[in-house]
Amino acid sequence: MRTLVIENVHVAPVAGPEIPRGYLRLDGDTITAVGPMAAAPPPPPGAERIDASGCLATPGLVNTHHHLYQWATQGLAQEATLFEWLVALYPVWAAMDAEVVGGAAGAALGWLALSGCTTTSDHHYVFPQGRGDLLAATIEAARRVGLRFHPARGSMDRGRSRGGLPPDAVVEDLDEILTATAAAVDEHHDPSPSSRLRVAVAPCSPFSASAELMTEAAALARDKGVRLHTHLAETLDEDEHCVARFGLRPVDYLDKLGWLGPDVWLAHAVHLTDADIGRLAATGTGSAHCPSSNGRLGAGIARVSELLRRGANVGLGVDGSASSELTPLAGEMRQALLLQRARYGPRALTARQALELATLGGARNLGRAAELGTLEPGKLADVALWRVDGPFAAAVADPVCALVLGPQPPLARLLVGGETVVEDGELRTAAQDDLGRAGAAAHRRLMRLARSHLP
Ligand SMILES: [Zn+2]
Repeated sequence: MRTLVIENVHVAPVAGPEIPRGYLRLDGDTITAVGPMAAAPPPPPGAERIDASGCLATPGLVNTHHHLYQWATQGLAQEATLFEWLVALYPVWAAMDAEVVGGAAGAALGWLALSGCTTTSDHHYVFPQGRGDLLAATIEAARRVGLRFHPARGSMDRGRSRGGLPPDAVVEDLDEILTATAAAVDEHHDPSPSSRLRVAVAPCSPFSASAELMTEAAALARDKGVRLHTHLAETLDEDEHCVARFGLRPVDYLDKLGWLGPDVWLAHAVHLTDADIGRLAATGTGSAHCPSSNGRLGAGIARVSELLRRGANVGLGVDGSASSELTPLAGEMRQALLLQRARYGPRALTARQALELATLGGARNLGRAAELGTLEPGKLADVALWRVDGPFAAAVADPVCALVLGPQPPLARLLVGGETVVEDGELRTAAQDDLGRAGAAAHRRLMRLARSHLP
């Protein structure tokens, strides 16, 4: 088994006190020791050693909301509200195929890795007929880039003719959805502790999924022992839609459908009342805060500090690139902190709380707090080494402050299960520029397909 010892590093383990000059020992895919250099035993013969002087070690960042395919539709509907943006983009997405999704996902995952992400979820909810295996295309891309992957098999069955927002052409039939979702879990889900691939069940939103789909999806997920994910309370338009159609606000509606619980995490959760926050905390329901996307669409500012104060779990998400553009996950720590403070004052969120959102908060959302999200013996060896001694960064004595409050520092190393994914700011698992070019080609292909697809 390969042993890797990272030495002379400032360790921010997220759980427990920081170690200003510490070491980490990784055996195979697991962290086996963390401590101060002064107490480090000599490395075993044959161990690989990394001198990480000038670096900060954090747990690999965990991204808990994304739509990888949206890499191919950046820059569109730039001044739209969420509903206007969706109505503009649904017909374009209807034209995507497995080649578009593979190219978009590769670029999006490479970009995530370069911002310190070691585990990401993906919420894919548009499955046009006869366009290839789109879910498999994302899984293949994640394998190539080398990230831990939690694809959420999304779905929509409530088209315009049933009072939903999407055109009927992009929704699926309920039975088809349930069959395909069960098959995705059976074929791909790996429940083992060191898993690199876990599948979740994820009807898209209250305005695009029927109550029947929500209920059946929850039953399916609980039967198979996998997690549940959906969008909720993103905008005031959604609030109005839920009150008008269901006579309930979004959190009450989900509660009525049996959709709150420790196996559920919700994207956005922006518009919450005090009572909503209480329900999320009491039921152990997590949320994925996506500050850049919420800002881009003018959706509002989530009540993150209040959620945390009342004991509800919050992780971070970059959200799809069509609503957040080129958003690096590390940068979302800063965005989250700045938005909370702009709204609620300078003590609303600390740099260390922001780091916890991006790591342990994310791991909890994905049901993996036992394996991911902190640097502790027994956890998986997913580690980010940030170079915080560059000439312009060196004026900050606090490395966690440099990481969260400043622009993203260079990524000296990113390890997933002890294996190098990024080194000296370059992707090592795949040709970085090729991934980027394939993402741009996916955009051009989708625009071409959409033009020929549209009436
Ligand atoms: Zn989303």
